[in-house]
Amino acid sequence: MDTQKSNTGWSDEELEASVDGYLKMLQLVNLGQPLNKKSEHELLRESALSARSLASVDYRMRNISAVFEILNLKPITGYTPAKNVGSGVVSRISRMLAQRGIVEFKDNAPTFDEELLEQRAAKLQSKPIKVQPEGITAPQQVTTTSTSYVRDPVVRAWVRQQAGGICEGCGLHAPFNLDNGQPFLEVHHVKHLAQKGSDRITNAVALCPNCHQRCHRSSDRVAFTEGLYARIGRLTPE
Ligand SMILES: [Zn+2]
Ligand SMILES: [Zn+2]
Repeated sequence: MDTQKSNTGWSDEELEASVDGYLKMLQLVNLGQPLNKKSEHELLRESALSARSLASVDYRMRNISAVFEILNLKPITGYTPAKNVGSGVVSRISRMLAQRGIVEFKDNAPTFDEELLEQRAAKLQSKPIKVQPEGITAPQQVTTTSTSYVRDPVVRAWVRQQAGGICEGCGLHAPFNLDNGQPFLEVHHVKHLAQKGSDRITNAVALCPNCHQRCHRSSDRVAFTEGLYARIGRLTPE
């Protein structure tokens, strides 16, 4: 197990002890009993959190408050939600809360995960929403890691040059020009990079944003993609 003293690298044991400590305090608060944060922190430092400073324990509790907020739950008032909590810590704490039956993931729960956000919104959108949502005044920032691919700028430039400002999907002009005067077209990989498609001109097309989204999300994306292969001579199915 990891016993680093920094705020990163907390072991599961340490994080679980913090979550349990937090939930114990929450229960006290809910029962209307006085809360002595310092003595609760000392108690934790006598066991699982012996490697951590008081300040460090307090900060971790504020991380848990941040996760409470993200999950649309009411945090303990004494712990102001920490800012910029890493997504790794957020998911670990969320998982621990779920294991303790605390979190019921609801369709209307805020999330930093774009895919999940879209899924939830699509589901909510299918029924009339009667009350105008309040939203989030100051959305919490989380740091996420994402996977990217190294791509060739020459391929991107060449494909756009060939397109000459005309979308290869619909044949219409790019919707606007950039500051540098170049027409705005997005270069799409017909077989997606995530599906092991190549970054070559035989697999790349210049599209307007509508056609680009259509390739990724439309109900007719397969047929639309077939149309690209049929129309654009340089493309080779991979
Ligand atoms: Zn288009
Ligand atoms: Zn694309």
